Amino acid sequence: MTKPTTTNTGIPVASDNESLTAGTQGPILLHDHYLIEKLAQFNRERVPERIVHAKGAGAYGELVVTNDVSRFTKAKLFQPGARTESLVRFSTVAGEQGSPDTWRDPRGFAVKFYTEDGNYDIVGNNTPIFFIKDPIKFPDFIRSQKRLPGSGLRDHNMQWDFWTLRPETAHQVTWLMGDRGVPATYRHMNGYGSHTYQWVNAKGERFWVKYHFKTDQGIKNLTQAEADQRAGTDPDFHRQDLYEAIERGEFPSWTLHVQVMPESEAEGYRFNPFDLTKVWSHKDYPLIEVGRWTLNRNPQNYFVDIEQAAFEPSNVVPGIGFSPDKMLLGRVFSYADAHRYRIGTNYAQLPPNRARAAEVNTYSKEGAMRYDYNAPEVPVYAPNSFGGPHADATRAGDEGTWTFGQEAVRAGYIQHREDGDFTQAGTLVREVYNDEERDRLVGNVVGHVLGGVGEPVLSRVFDYWKSVDPEIGKRIEEGVRTGLNGNA
Ligand code: NDP
Repeated sequence: MTKPTTTNTGIPVASDNESLTAGTQGPILLHDHYLIEKLAQFNRERVPERIVHAKGAGAYGELVVTNDVSRFTKAKLFQPGARTESLVRFSTVAGEQGSPDTWRDPRGFAVKFYTEDGNYDIVGNNTPIFFIKDPIKFPDFIRSQKRLPGSGLRDHNMQWDFWTLRPETAHQVTWLMGDRGVPATYRHMNGYGSHTYQWVNAKGERFWVKYHFKTDQGIKNLTQAEADQRAGTDPDFHRQDLYEAIERGEFPSWTLHVQVMPESEAEGYRFNPFDLTKVWSHKDYPLIEVGRWTLNRNPQNYFVDIEQAAFEPSNVVPGIGFSPDKMLLGRVFSYADAHRYRIGTNYAQLPPNRARAAEVNTYSKEGAMRYDYNAPEVPVYAPNSFGGPHADATRAGDEGTWTFGQEAVRAGYIQHREDGDFTQAGTLVREVYNDEERDRLVGNVVGHVLGGVGEPVLSRVFDYWKSVDPEIGKRIEEGVRTGLNGNA
């Protein structure tokens, strides 16, 4: 027998079909509290979408550590043989909830590990770098990639205006306009922690570290034409591909690697290792395998598990710490703040965000929608004489620290020997891309610029690319000028 429909509080309702009216033609009666509840609930079904990374997909999985990196970190999840439950959310960045999955954009790669020491989040991207290196520029950057205030339209002129006025974007823009700017699926792209983090071993020795999740499915990308076609016919292509692969039992996996830099080497390295627009060359710091990360379970409910998922770089566990990377330090504040706004102050109680392998003993209490609480005999203040939890520095371990100057300054990163906004972008174009990839880069940029970039931005676009590489810059200028003359 089917179950009776009830109100939210379990009271059986009289009808799924007819509202309560005064006679058949009369007005609807306000005391039809079930109708009111149903309409009001519907109006509130959505939470605000994320200001960035609104469109995404996700799944649960597991990290299995296959190598011994305990000489670098005491973090329990990275000890030999450790298995840790995990959640990921992949996403585009600038598009809204309903936007196509195959627009050219970096992809979010946010991973949560439910460790014995609490949740650890690596909130990365499918690129090892980013457009900017200081969080004070982040709102400006995102606004330039989103929509014009008047028309509500996206605008390539605004995008290139920002990029060319901030040449530190060159490395990430070169990447974005290259083949990896549109992955074939979420399964066929790498993930990178991008920031520099700190690892601390059992002896208290400190290392700088970068995470690389290398896809075991192999890298595959879409050309601009393929991406445009998918955007029209199949806007949810990446979400669907991930879901269906897992349903089929084809569990995608990634091999997790790290680059490790002894703390003392940072100062002398040829690039500033905390600048998020730079990579550490693999030649200088080769990848060290850590383990295999596999996705094996779809969300039971997309809204609950993925839309309400809250990743935050502030979630670090003993054995892991932050670094002088200013973007990371900005995100340590802003992610938790975004969650408080979007899904409420008690977001850590929601199913995807709860600690699963660690006990939560917090003094935080009450607030909107709180349903979890300590036993009544547990005091709500510290210190106390009644057996409430007390902070234990030995359990927290080394929180990750470094030596820094005493004076508050507003200054750029210290420039190391080979630093420069265009250096690594040039390396990517000349030494990593092959001829076909360079041709597609030129084609992608020309197509994008012809999508509405005018003077004075246009001349700066040519100078920007000539700074990345003179030859590529020349070809882009020729391509755009030909297109503008109607000969494309
Ligand atoms: P390497 O030659 O050792 O590494 C180049 C790396 O580039 C490859 O390992 C691969 O990274 C990645 N790559 C290959 N094809 C493309 C492509 N079409 N688009 C984007 N990335 C690609 O040189 P370096 O480590 O000295 O780095 C040189 C340049 O390579 C950097 O300036 C950076 O732009 C790019 N790069 C560097 C990475 C790093 O962490 N050092 C990571 C990724 C790119 P992967 O194995 O991760 O797929």
